[in-house]
Amino acid sequence: MALRTSLFRRAREVTPGGVNSPVRAWQAVGGGEPFFVRRGDGAYLEDVDGNRYVDWVMSWGPLVFGHADPEVVEAVQEAAAEGTSFGAPTEREVELAEEITDAVPSVEKVRLVSSGAEAAMSAVRLARGFTKRDRILKFEGGYHGHADGLLASAGSGLATLGIPLSPGVPSAATADTVVCPYNDFAAAAAAVERYGEGLAAVLVEPVAGNMGVVPPEPGFLEALRGLCDAAGALLVFDEVITGFRVARGGAQELYGVRPDLTILGKIAGGGLPLAAFGGGANVMDELAPSGPVYQAGTLSGNPLATAAALVVLRRLRDPSVYEQLEETGARLEAGLSGPGVTVQRVGAMLTVFFREDPVRTFAEASESDLERYGAFFRHLLERGIYVAPSQFEAMFVSTAHGDAEVEATVEAAAELLRR
Ligand code: PMP
Repeated sequence: MALRTSLFRRAREVTPGGVNSPVRAWQAVGGGEPFFVRRGDGAYLEDVDGNRYVDWVMSWGPLVFGHADPEVVEAVQEAAAEGTSFGAPTEREVELAEEITDAVPSVEKVRLVSSGAEAAMSAVRLARGFTKRDRILKFEGGYHGHADGLLASAGSGLATLGIPLSPGVPSAATADTVVCPYNDFAAAAAAVERYGEGLAAVLVEPVAGNMGVVPPEPGFLEALRGLCDAAGALLVFDEVITGFRVARGGAQELYGVRPDLTILGKIAGGGLPLAAFGGGANVMDELAPSGPVYQAGTLSGNPLATAAALVVLRRLRDPSVYEQLEETGARLEAGLSGPGVTVQRVGAMLTVFFREDPVRTFAEASESDLERYGAFFRHLLERGIYVAPSQFEAMFVSTAHGDAEVEATVEAAAELLRR
């Protein structure tokens, strides 16, 4: 019996569904049992049964230099030897905050936390505390972690108040969350018109990554900036995926639109559990202890995580990294494009949608042929290529992916895409 089979059996005895985050169970692609990873190096994963895979998931985005990058490993080892957690300030936290504020155009001050969900939840609280308003606007298919108020889906009709997406989320927690279709200028304007006076924030993934990759329509982010300014609401970019990925300064650098608050995670943590949120000093100084809005964390600014993050973010100062990511991404996009699919890409993130027409909204993403996506996933996996186990996710390019990995992937995909 494969070791993965017995491990998955044991895992299901002691962990709900056998995994510590739902997408890992491969339920959306009819994948049966997931592999169990033994190790990673560069662009490759090796599972406990000795199979090797080209990895296009890259821990869902953080690993921009690939698995077990030697400099990151060394920095973490050195940091660990000096203590794994202090709950007191360290020099590296200052250096990392300086690195982030230098890179991200709108961020003057930043608070370090441990996960993207925590950063998003805290940014929303800060926006509410700062504006003294309760309501927030988010977009259908946008994911911002699993905090109650952010697990809302659209009610029926345009610009309705959100309804809970999960049992256990009280309807009161989503009652102040308005949900609109992404890239829908009219719906966003109507929502702000209707709820603007009480609106604390508009929260958006500036390039959507959680319905598959969906870039903003030209002018959409600018329109949100204008709506927020008119309503006195804060514009919050969730750059957990796009931060340090689509450009060093994230989507706000790429599209030239400045949010009031920015949520970071993934690459910003160098592959360790670290995330952040930041913005103008006037807003950020509302946070405790300089201001009244409460937020805290035992492991925040963890010494191992800051060591890894510093290595990664400093190397991202070199523009040639982004040139390489763009080239690799473009080659992959060209190779995977063909009849019956639409490949959508922004820099080093892309999705192959099993649908002829471009995807601009979650509703359109949902019209993709999910059966065919599942077949695509399984076909590639059998050939040693691991792509996201869901149509509504992205492929993440790293500098460890080269010609060989792109060619192997394109070749394996062609067998199926030609059918
Ligand atoms: N925001 C976005 C845009 C994300 O993609 C994610 C996670 N994929 C989160 C927030 C939550 O981050 P985490 O999983 O680190 O809590």
